[in-house]
Amino acid sequence: MEKYWNQEIETMSREEMKKLQDERLVAQVKHVYENVKYYRDLMDEKGVKPEDIKSTDDLHKLPFLTKSDLRDAYPYGLLAKPLSECVRIQSTSGTTGKRVVAFYTQHDIDLWEDCCARAITAVGGTNEDVCHISYGYGLFTGGPGLNGGSHKVGCLTLPMSSGNTERQITFMRDLGSTILCCTPSYAAYIGETLNDMGLTPDDISLKAGIFGAEPWTEEMRQSIEKSLGIKAYDIYGLTETSGPGVAFECSEQTGMHINEDNFYPEIINPDTGEVLPEGEVGELVFTSLTKEAFPLLRYRTRDLCVLSRKKCSCGRTLIKMAKPMGRSDDMLIIRGVNVFPSQIETVLIENGYSPNYLIEVDRVNNTDTLDVNVEMNPDQVSDKVSDMQQKERALAEAMKTMLGINPKVHLVAPKSITRSEGKAVRVIDKRKLHDR
Ligand code: ADP
Ligand code: ZN
Repeated sequence: MEKYWNQEIETMSREEMKKLQDERLVAQVKHVYENVKYYRDLMDEKGVKPEDIKSTDDLHKLPFLTKSDLRDAYPYGLLAKPLSECVRIQSTSGTTGKRVVAFYTQHDIDLWEDCCARAITAVGGTNEDVCHISYGYGLFTGGPGLNGGSHKVGCLTLPMSSGNTERQITFMRDLGSTILCCTPSYAAYIGETLNDMGLTPDDISLKAGIFGAEPWTEEMRQSIEKSLGIKAYDIYGLTETSGPGVAFECSEQTGMHINEDNFYPEIINPDTGEVLPEGEVGELVFTSLTKEAFPLLRYRTRDLCVLSRKKCSCGRTLIKMAKPMGRSDDMLIIRGVNVFPSQIETVLIENGYSPNYLIEVDRVNNTDTLDVNVEMNPDQVSDKVSDMQQKERALAEAMKTMLGINPKVHLVAPKSITRSEGKAVRVIDKRKLHDR
């Protein structure tokens, strides 16, 4: 039987959970309306009053918040508590533009760390574990969030932060790390470095990894599990709603349970804003039910995914979200066709290549071009030009089948693509330079 961090909440009946969410939502809307002028104005503009929101069934009446609202309101415009009651600021990684900042009261920090403790417990973490945290520390939420969760669970916590990969492995061996937390791309790099150091998974004590903060594929999961000899679990979150731990994976490894007592999820049609039924793919929207200092209502994440209430073998009743396919803004539109970097990753790993690749998109004579640089493993290198061309053609063909458009594949030398210690950069879109 799997252990839970907070069994009552994690296995609560649907009716009880709905009741809890309804109560929390009503109080939260009132709190926001009274304390956040920016959102009050949006509600007034839409003609919605706090009294109109009696339960989560009324949520659709509320206006959305977007990243551009957060930028407009930067830095204090969405703050719902006096700064004297706030104890922490974190910031987004700035993957897609100007950073946004989020504020936390001590109560908010406790709730956030609790969510991370649920994630660690769900992968089998206890006070017997050594939790090795290689997410970045600082403004980025990855390090501080898992660090707090690890303390709550009582793990021996190693606040490694990212970088200096050989030293990471030395510490991992000397101190017997059992749980690794970092981005999936960094986990892949650690696995590769382990091998380069002449070591195997038998030389380390890791049993599980908690990897998130960027999209990754099932193929990548299998590759990491093999290279580190572990079970690899997904974790999802964003700074705007707190950080990692908004959703976490359990033993079933088929999607992440959303901590829906704190974060109410909706899936919407990104073009019309219409709420979609369970099972349909759309943009994930979160309403923070419990945060005090920075409580966002109907925040549009731009992450595309799908929700499911299918019964889970772990016993948790919390709704599940699939692995996000990427953000709507990661999606490349190339010659009119939608392309996600994750689709390319799938093809590469399925064909025996490493997950080290760089996509370059450009526009030549008004036509979009797609070039995929793929790193070879040492045993894939050949000094026969015809061999290499044959391999490139075969990969391009496999990608064409997956994507529906023809890329140009370039096989590049082993270790020539920069490794990521945090969130990987997989795409260079040069078309944006022309558009400026
Ligand atoms: P930034 O938006 O600058 O990257 P954050 O560091 O807050 O700021 O990142 C949050 C985003 O990271 C999410 O909106 C999502 O796009 C991505 N993300 C986080 N966890 C995952 C995950 N497990 N799978 C896919 N994407 C994820
Ligand atoms: Zn489960």
